[in-house]
Amino acid sequence: MNTRILKIDSDNIDKEKIQEAAKVIREGELVAFPTETVYGLGANGLDEVAVEKIYKAKGRPSDNPLILHISSLEEIVPLVEDIPPIAYRCMEKFWPGPLTMIFKRSKIIPDIITGGLDTVAIRMPDHPIASRFIKASGVPIAAPSANTSGRPSPTKADHVIEDMQGKIPMIIDGGSTGIGLESTVLDMSIDTPMILRPGGITIEELRKIIPDISLDRSIVQKDAVPKSPGQKYRHYAPKAEMILFTGDIESMVREINKYADDYISRGKKVGIISTYETKDRYNDNNKLVAICGSRKEPESIAVNLFSVIRGFDSSDVDIILAEGVSIDNIGMAIMNRMLKAAGGKIIKL
Ligand code: AMP
Ligand code: MG
Repeated sequence: MNTRILKIDSDNIDKEKIQEAAKVIREGELVAFPTETVYGLGANGLDEVAVEKIYKAKGRPSDNPLILHISSLEEIVPLVEDIPPIAYRCMEKFWPGPLTMIFKRSKIIPDIITGGLDTVAIRMPDHPIASRFIKASGVPIAAPSANTSGRPSPTKADHVIEDMQGKIPMIIDGGSTGIGLESTVLDMSIDTPMILRPGGITIEELRKIIPDISLDRSIVQKDAVPKSPGQKYRHYAPKAEMILFTGDIESMVREINKYADDYISRGKKVGIISTYETKDRYNDNNKLVAICGSRKEPESIAVNLFSVIRGFDSSDVDIILAEGVSIDNIGMAIMNRMLKAAGGKIIKL
């Protein structure tokens, strides 16, 4: 299949191009598009045959449900059965934005969207191209991240091209995404709302509205079974083996250097995920040191994480040694993605 790359400037949106992309959706085909979190792989969420194509292009397991994306509040009405008052308060505060909420599904939602569950996930993205594109399509857009299942999520159009070229008819290139990690998934279908996946909206922000909010144990505890089907799979995985280090900065730097020297002495190519504050501490030419961002501004680490992991894939490293961050604020989502990328391999110092 020939993949058309449609470049759209988010500061000066070309309406005709948006209409072209919307037409592809209405014809039952796939369009990858930028959001403020990561790039999404979109299809008409009410068209079972179109949604099937998402699973096929990604190689996604069929029991991993999809998020439906909307562009204005009234669009949620036909999609869900019940919206608790607390959910309206979250919408007011966080929509459009990186918060996905789970509700009881209505009858019009195809089973393929929900993986057979009686709930459906809904989000309103905060990105000018995404919202214009959804509005122009006139349907809720089902969209998981636009990567091959298991690989790091795409934060640039080039990442989408890498994974999806030849498999889908259209990719909207709208530049880099802002947050760099996926949305927070919050279950609103139960009495006490629970975070199933940490993401762009932090638990600290959500607590201000939902003081008794809970956190799925699997987010912080290695062996617990996740409540959200998608969370049980290995995700964001580099080709290389990855080990995550946590502890104080001095101990992390010391241990990472020790591990790196040991792997290099055995002929392995080593990549290190560092920060501005620590990058000069791995001064050895044989180590590939990537700077993910600044510890003073963890949001910068979120922005670059997936791109850094993809970069190490391109340079064919054998092992990635990653510095952890504190789990405060956006740190919880960063550590969740790093831990998954490492397949649970963590060294606590
Ligand atoms: P992705 O589309 O790759 O960002 O992943 C979407 C995430 O939302 C996955 O972890 C899904 O398991 C989760 N999700 C979607 N719908 C539901 C639902 N109805 N109940 C629980 N989790 C869901
Ligand atoms: Mg994904």
